[in-house]
Amino acid sequence: MEIFKEFTFESAHRLPHVPEGHKCGRLHGHSFKVGLHLTGPLDPHTGWIRDFAEVKAIFKPIYDQLDHNYLNDIPGLENPTSEVIAKWIWDQVKPLMPELSKVRIHETCTSGCEYTGD
Ligand SMILES: [Zn+2]
Repeated sequence: MEIFKEFTFESAHRLPHVPEGHKCGRLHGHSFKVGLHLTGPLDPHTGWIRDFAEVKAIFKPIYDQLDHNYLNDIPGLENPTSEVIAKWIWDQVKPLMPELSKVRIHETCTSGCEYTGD
């Protein structure tokens, strides 16, 4: 059984390692979407894997660092690609929610990535 909770955040970034003239090297923003996926046994009493409200509460301090901020200023996000953001979120959430099985990032409507820990 897998559950997921989605969040959106608005952030600015630029990618410092792209070739000269690449549009992603310029300062710009995205409406990012994050999906946190949790896999685990279905509790026969509660009927769920984890309370969605707990997922939200655990993610809040991490979310607050991202939303309406300049991602490049955040330690670990100096090169804030979707892939780096997914791993950055994973590394912080996994110790708090061992059932985390996937972090999904949408950078635009048609582009994104999924990270499952390897
Ligand atoms: Zn971008």
